[in-house]
Amino acid sequence: MDRARKDAAPPDPAVKAALERRGRDPGQLVQILRELQEWHGWLPPAALAEVARELGITLARVRGVAGFYAFLAREPQGLYRVLFADNVTDRMQGSQALMAEFCRSLWVEPGKVSEDGLVSVATTSCTGLCDQGPGLLVNGRAIPRAGRERLVQVRELILDRRPIEGWPEDLFAIEDNVRRRHALLGSGLRPGEAVKAALERAAAIETERAASDRSWREGVPQDAEGPLVMLREIERSGLRGRGGAGFTTAAKWSACRAAPDGTRYVICNADEGEPGTFKDRVLLASHADLLLDGMTIAAYCVGAREGLIYLRGEYRYLLEPLEATLERRRRAGLLGRNLLGRRGFDFDVSIHLGAGSYVCGEESALLESLEGRRGIPRNRPPYPVTHGYLGKPTVVNNVETLCAAALIAVHGGDWYRSIGTAKSAGTKILSVAGDVARPGLYEYPFGVTVREVLEEAGAECTLAVQVSGPSGTCIDASEFGRRIAFEDLPTAGAFTVFDDSRDMFEVARNYAHFFAHESCGFCTPCRVGTSMLVGILDKIHRGRGSLHELEEMSRLNPVLQASAHCGLGHTACNPVLDTLKRFRPAYERRLTSLRFAPDFDLDAALAEARRMTGRDDPGAHFEGEA
Ligand code: SF4
Repeated sequence: MDRARKDAAPPDPAVKAALERRGRDPGQLVQILRELQEWHGWLPPAALAEVARELGITLARVRGVAGFYAFLAREPQGLYRVLFADNVTDRMQGSQALMAEFCRSLWVEPGKVSEDGLVSVATTSCTGLCDQGPGLLVNGRAIPRAGRERLVQVRELILDRRPIEGWPEDLFAIEDNVRRRHALLGSGLRPGEAVKAALERAAAIETERAASDRSWREGVPQDAEGPLVMLREIERSGLRGRGGAGFTTAAKWSACRAAPDGTRYVICNADEGEPGTFKDRVLLASHADLLLDGMTIAAYCVGAREGLIYLRGEYRYLLEPLEATLERRRRAGLLGRNLLGRRGFDFDVSIHLGAGSYVCGEESALLESLEGRRGIPRNRPPYPVTHGYLGKPTVVNNVETLCAAALIAVHGGDWYRSIGTAKSAGTKILSVAGDVARPGLYEYPFGVTVREVLEEAGAECTLAVQVSGPSGTCIDASEFGRRIAFEDLPTAGAFTVFDDSRDMFEVARNYAHFFAHESCGFCTPCRVGTSMLVGILDKIHRGRGSLHELEEMSRLNPVLQASAHCGLGHTACNPVLDTLKRFRPAYERRLTSLRFAPDFDLDAALAEARRMTGRDDPGAHFEGEA
C-alpha cells in the first residue's frame, strides 16, 4: 500500500450512502451535500474531499457549493443548530430580545458554538412563518410561534439532549391560516380532476374534428392537437406568472413547446424566499394535488416528460408529505407512464431541496442550483424556455401560477378571464402579516384595494404597507386606495403591515441587511453596493449620519440599476428609496449634521489621551478646537 493511500481517511459511510442515493451524479451535488449536512451536522473537509474524488469533480467546485448555501456549514455546528428567523416581522415580535435571552440561558454567544458543542445559535432570513412568528429552525425543522414559553421548552429539550425526532409534535405544528378563499383556495378539486378535464377538452375537439373531417382518424398522436387546445385555453385566460415578474404564461409555454430540442422540462419554483411571503407554504402543504395537476397540464402543453419541484430549504418539513403525494399519484395513474390510460402521455416529478439561498428564487439561478452548482444567475438570453435545465427547453413557473393553470383546465379560460381586472385576470393570494389582528392568507380577485385588505385583516392606525416584500413597493396611507394588480401594485404575495408605532427607518435597515446578506457576490456593483448601503444605514443608526449619507444612498441606486446582474441588485435600494421618499423624518431626526460627519468619532478616541494628560478643557476636544 502506498503512503498516500495508507494516510487517507477511511471512507465515510454517509458519503457512500448519499452518492448511491443520488446516482453518483455531479448534478446532484447540492442534494448530496444537504444529506451529508443532515448526517454530520456540518460538512467535514474529509467528506468534501471524498465527494470530489468519487464524483470526479474538483475540490474547488465542491467547496464553492458548500460555501454558497446558508444551510451548509463548513465549520462544526452544535449538536442542535438553532436559527432564529430575522425578518422584520420576527423582529416586530421581539425575536432579537428572545434570541439574546435564549443565548444567555444556554451560555452560548450568537454565531458561535457552545463550549460543550451542544448548541449553536445564529440568525437566518425569513422562514415563511410571518403569520405565526417568531420563526425558529432547529436542525432544519421549523418551529412557529417561538415566543418565550416555547423557547424555554426548546432549551429544556436541548439540555436533556433529546433527539429532535422525539420532541413533542405540537412544537412543529404549522397552521394554514387561510382567512379568505376564492377561486383557488376554495376550488375543492379532486386529485387529477384538472388533468382529466384537460384531456377531455382535447378529446372533445378531436371528436368534433373527426365528425367534420373524414381524414381525421383514430390513432392521431395525442400531442398533435390536444396540447394546443389547452394552450389556447391558457392564452384565453390571460394568466400571468404569480412570482412577481408577471410574464404571460401562455407565451412562456408556447415558446418552450416551439423550441427545437425534443427533451423538455417543467419546473415548479417553490423557493419562496421573499421576506413576508408564505402562500406557497400553504399551497404545498394543503393543495399539492392542484399544483401537481398544474405541472402535469404544463407538461402536456409543452411536451415534457419530467418535472422538478425546487423546494426551499426552509420548507424541509414538507418534503416527506410531498413525496407521499407523488407516490399516491403514481399509484393512481396520475404520474408515471401512460397517464390516465392515455398512451404516450408520460410524466413524473421529483423534488430538489434548496439549501438556504434567496437568489435561487431567480429562475436561472435556480437552474444552476438544480444542476449542482452555486446559485448564480445566468446571462440571458438565452432564456430557459429554449436553454434551461441541462440546456434543454424548460418552463419555470411559480406554485400559484401552476395551481391557477389547473383551475383553467377545469373551468375554462373565459371563466378565469372574467375574474379580476381587464389587465390582471384571476385572483391573487396575499400573505398578510405584521400589525394586523388576523394575519394569514387572503385570496382576492385582482383589483382589490389595499384599504379593503387592511380592513378585512383588522389593521388599525396603519402607517405603511410593504407590498411584495423588500424588492416591491412601500406605500403610505395616502396610497391605500391603490389596487393589487399588475397595472398598479404588482406583487408576488407579501403584504406586510406597519402601524404608527413602527420606525420605518429600522424597517428599511432590516431589509438592506437582508439584501447584503443574500447578495451572491458574483458582480461587484451588487456585492459592494449592498454592503455600502448597510454601512450608511448603520452609520445613521449609530447617530453619525448627515445629509451627505442620504444623498449617497440616492446615488447608489442608478449604479445598481444599470450594472447589477440580476433582480436582487436592481431592487436592493427600493426599501430605502421608498421610505426616504415617504418617511423622510424617520431618517432626518437621526442626522447629527447637515454636512458630512465622519463615522470615526475622533473626540471619543481622544478620551484616553485626555485622561492621561489630565486635560478636559475645550482645546483638548476635537470639536472644541474647531
Ligand atoms: Fe449576485 Fe447581486 Fe449580482 Fe444578482 S446582482 S448576480 S445577487 S451579486
